[in-house]
Amino acid sequence: MNKRDYYNILGTSNAASQDEIKKAYRKLAMKYHPDRNPDNKQAEDKFKEAAQAYEVLSDEQKRKEYDQFGYNAFGSGAGGSQYSNTNVNMEDILNNFGDIFGFGGNKNRQQRKQGPEAVRGHDLSKTIEISLKEAYLGIKKEIGYYHFFMCDTCNGLGAEKGTKSTSCAACKGAGQTTYQQGFFMYSQACGPCAGNGYIIQSPCEGCNGQSRTQKYDKFTLTIPAGVFNGAELKVSNKGDAGVYGGQNGNFFVKIAIQDDKRFKREQNDLLCQLMLTYPQLVLGCQVEIENIDGTKETIKVPRGCQVGQKILVVGKGFSQLRSSVRGNLVVVAQCHVPKKINQEAKKALNEYSKIVGTDINDKSNSISSWFKKFIG
Ligand SMILES: [Zn+2]
Ligand SMILES: [Zn+2]
Repeated sequence: MNKRDYYNILGTSNAASQDEIKKAYRKLAMKYHPDRNPDNKQAEDKFKEAAQAYEVLSDEQKRKEYDQFGYNAFGSGAGGSQYSNTNVNMEDILNNFGDIFGFGGNKNRQQRKQGPEAVRGHDLSKTIEISLKEAYLGIKKEIGYYHFFMCDTCNGLGAEKGTKSTSCAACKGAGQTTYQQGFFMYSQACGPCAGNGYIIQSPCEGCNGQSRTQKYDKFTLTIPAGVFNGAELKVSNKGDAGVYGGQNGNFFVKIAIQDDKRFKREQNDLLCQLMLTYPQLVLGCQVEIENIDGTKETIKVPRGCQVGQKILVVGKGFSQLRSSVRGNLVVVAQCHVPKKINQEAKKALNEYSKIVGTDINDKSNSISSWFKKFIG
């Protein structure tokens, strides 16, 4: 091979983009393809020359070396190039066609299969409901479910003990058969192996050659105190077993926290309403309440406490995940207004009303008459 300029061979400039180089090569390859030029030694040389130029210029690293050192970058002295056309194999060039131009080619030669491919198992997930109290305290829950296990008869190989899967002879492990017509490669799924590329001669009876079996399984999940609604806990390797020895999937548990009748959560605070009587709010008092976990808390209601006022019990809220910090128990003062009271209480209330200047016994007993005092 003469030491011609690779750019010259492809008919591109030194600054040509990879795309331009590929297009130029394609054009030449089509022109000098042996199918179009049977028994034409000159065309064959041109074809090989173009392939060689393309091989160097399409590879960034090789192109850089070539740009710097020229043709000698690839060999020690004259004719020593590893890319010299005496080494160029027509079959290799043709095989690479598929990769370069995106059609069939014989690239499946590299994917010859001796046996089934290991594939990772699916991830599984489940939502479980817990109470707010369980979220407050943390809890262990048993999770039961059906999933795929590696078949222990064949250890996940799918073949009976002492046997192996073999590469399909019909397609040589490619899974498809390819034939060439002129320029084009056609391929179709191989019949004898159903496109798998391998054949399990004696499938394992435990799993019918599937390498896995489905079984019921359970494990205990520790749900940490302070877990949030909608949190997703990952349990490694508890998903489906992989196919033919592939890795296990993971199991994801989604936490749904039920509403509680008495308590609400706000961030890490635990909120509850405390019903107090009017005198309790006015005079102040101490009352004992039960926290969500059943422990007793003494609440100090200050004198003149307003409806809606928040009284904090510091550090008695939710635990913050992965920390020792805790939220507060927030008690919201409410006023209990009785629908019925006895005579004695009524009398006392009337007295009180008089003292503070509200005339409950106004004859018309209506709001409009009460307003008249201000307007009229
Ligand atoms: Zn098996
Ligand atoms: Zn086959």
